[in-house]
Amino acid sequence: MTRVRRESFAQLWADAVAGTSYVSMGRDELAAHLLGLTDRLIDAAIAPDFDPSVAHEVGADLVAAHFTGTETLGETLALITGRLANLLDGLTDCPELAARIARLAGNIAAGYASALRERTLDEQEAIHRAGLVARMEAERALAASEARLRAMFTQAAVGIGIGDLEGNITEANPTLLRMFGYTLDDFTSLKVSSMVHPEDAASVWQAYEQLICGERDHFRVEKRFHRADGGEIWTHLTVSLVRDETGAPAYQVAVVEDVSERHRLQARLHYQAYHDPLTGLPNRAMVSDRLAQVFARPIGSRRIGLCYLDLDGFKVVNDSLGHDVGDQLLIAVASRLAGCCGRGQLVARMGGDEFVIIVEDSCEEDVISLAEDVLAALAAPIRIGDYELIVTASIGIVERPVAVTTQADLVQAADITLYWAKADGKGRYAIFDRHRNEQEVARFTLSTTMPAAVERNEFFVDYQPLVALADCTLRGVEALVRWRHPTYGVLGPEQFIGLAEETGAIVQLGRWVLAQACEQASRWRADFGDAAPFISVNLAPRQLREPGLVGDVLTILADTRLDPSHLQLELTEQALMGDEAGPVEALAKLYDMGVRIAIDDFGTGYSNLPYLRRLPLHDLKLAGSFAVGLRPALPDLVDERIVATLVNLAHALDLTVTAEGVETIAQLERLRALGCDAGQGFLFAPPCTPAQIDALLRAANPLGGPGTGTRAL
Ligand code: C2E
Ligand code: CA
Ligand code: CA
Repeated sequence: MTRVRRESFAQLWADAVAGTSYVSMGRDELAAHLLGLTDRLIDAAIAPDFDPSVAHEVGADLVAAHFTGTETLGETLALITGRLANLLDGLTDCPELAARIARLAGNIAAGYASALRERTLDEQEAIHRAGLVARMEAERALAASEARLRAMFTQAAVGIGIGDLEGNITEANPTLLRMFGYTLDDFTSLKVSSMVHPEDAASVWQAYEQLICGERDHFRVEKRFHRADGGEIWTHLTVSLVRDETGAPAYQVAVVEDVSERHRLQARLHYQAYHDPLTGLPNRAMVSDRLAQVFARPIGSRRIGLCYLDLDGFKVVNDSLGHDVGDQLLIAVASRLAGCCGRGQLVARMGGDEFVIIVEDSCEEDVISLAEDVLAALAAPIRIGDYELIVTASIGIVERPVAVTTQADLVQAADITLYWAKADGKGRYAIFDRHRNEQEVARFTLSTTMPAAVERNEFFVDYQPLVALADCTLRGVEALVRWRHPTYGVLGPEQFIGLAEETGAIVQLGRWVLAQACEQASRWRADFGDAAPFISVNLAPRQLREPGLVGDVLTILADTRLDPSHLQLELTEQALMGDEAGPVEALAKLYDMGVRIAIDDFGTGYSNLPYLRRLPLHDLKLAGSFAVGLRPALPDLVDERIVATLVNLAHALDLTVTAEGVETIAQLERLRALGCDAGQGFLFAPPCTPAQIDALLRAANPLGGPGTGTRAL
């Protein structure tokens, strides 16, 4: 019975405290646990010797079992003071039972409270200890990371500097100090603002200001600094802003990489790329860069002048005295040129013995007076070793507003003008002249279009009779080429033969004329037999030097089936006067083949009969100027005597003589009287078309002379 009561009390207790605390016990387990406590309390209450300390332990036990909810103790005390006396009713006769229960309750409360306090203290202690451990850990980690950062700072291969926002340098690592050559104390007494280099771009310090104000977080530049010893270093500089936890600018960190070596290398390569190694002057690349800069800003009325200079006869010095002397001469010239140039003038060597002076913001008088200074500076002999060399130079001057020209035009104009200075006699300057240039351009255009014009058959040949003076009969015809130009109309040979000779186009054109003339001659042969004229074709000096000439003539004769004796080639003395053996050999071969050879325009050149004597020739054509001297209106006895002498000499050499430019009967008669064999001129016939020659041949009349005249045509 007693047991049952105890159990039901424990059950009541369990019901009262269940849910007041978070305890991981089930209902039954809880009841069983509280039954144990119930037993101890009841046993204490009814024991003969009352010991309330048991209740103290029960209170502590509740805390130990985690009955620590705020209501647990209240519920427990209410149950014990309210119900325990009833429960013990009849079990004990102890008179002080009520007092004992009250003391037990008090002790439970005390035990509970002290256990609870104990536990809270323990928990606080644990938290405190954990906090302590965590802090120590963090401090250790912080120290480790700081040590790492410090090591990085002191051992970094790049320079690192730290500065505050007022621009004071506060820290610098050893690399940075080494780079700048300062001690730490010196360095940290510097202001960032004292690190300005005169060559700094404005943008560098602008970026710095923005960084300090927090408008940007970093910037990166390539920048020069002065070292403590006055030297210079080139650096790759990165400056970063460090902010505090609120985001406000706190300080700045500069990372500085020394790139001086790379810069030195670049500078050297740059220098080499833009300078001539021999004279140390700027080179062609520098000139074209400088001009490109000028032409990149063709502002307003800006002008530019160019003196293009070339030494006269430098090749002779080089060839005769050797390249060393040549080099020394170029060096001396370079230094004299440099001595003539002032600010805004750049003198450069373009290569070989060519130099150029660029004059920026020029006026024509300045450039001319510069050219005069240069010529004067070069006039004094240049001493090289044992030699006293006199050099002259030719200078082409171009001076014009930048806006009206291009870089290429300017250089080309200077080049052309230099050529004029040379052609005008060397040792002088020439000034660009647009009109002269236009004429030359027209000539040049003509010369470049010539080969295509041959292909397009724009050329044609007229034939001018060569007449025997004895009976005025047609013996030969001279082939004279003309150009039916699509824009300029018919051009005479004086307008393009010289040009063709210069460009070499004469070779192709001459071959074409020869083929054309031989074909025509062969046709006349077929139509008129022996009455047909031989054909006389002009051969330019250049053609005579062509190695293929003899072969070409052979081929053309074969192709047109013309006998070599029906072909005459006219060439000037000048064509035979050179040093080369080729022309004379070619001439001899042609002569041996049976081709007739005539010397054209005799009397206008060397008139070197003794020399001609050694050449295989048939005919001497006396220049038209002699015929002019034979006019009765202005009889020139000297001319007449010269003609007589020439005719006699020619005959002595077994040559026939043909007089050119016969225009009057009087001339014809004089020439005939002087023994001249043949004549050519307007008196007989002007250059004719093949059809006109056909008509002449069919008429079979003598040409010229009294009674017949040019009416025969
Ligand atoms: P050239 O060989 O002395 O030819 C004669 C030139 O004198 C021709 O001029 C002809 O028209 C001109 N002439 C003829 N009779 C008279 C006259 O009575 N009085 C005057 N004042 N002049 C006369 P063209 O046709 O203008 O030829 C000029 C020159 O061009 C030629 O001079 C010749 O050296 C050259 N030439 C012409 N055709 C050729 C050619 O196919 N090849 C080469 N290499 N030169 C040619
Ligand atoms: Ca001729
Ligand atoms: Ca002639």
